[in-house]
Amino acid sequence: MTRTAETIRTVRAGCTVCHGLAAHWLGRNAAGVAARHHDATGHRTWAEQSLRTVYGADSAPPHPDLFAEVPA
Ligand SMILES: [Zn+2]
Repeated sequence: MTRTAETIRTVRAGCTVCHGLAAHWLGRNAAGVAARHHDATGHRTWAEQSLRTVYGADSAPPHPDLFAEVPA
């Protein structure tokens, strides 16, 4: 049996001095931007990464009857 799998990596990063607790940089190079921002400014920066793995293809319509027309 074959299984399709897709892993999605999301990264959020920020600077505690410039942005408080909010994430300011998003995307795959957010961690690198946070590291360079720390190097340039000495600020305390952070990066949070998560991995989401999805097994199986998305073949069925998510909500087939969601937009069904109402008979008049
Ligand atoms: Zn900063």
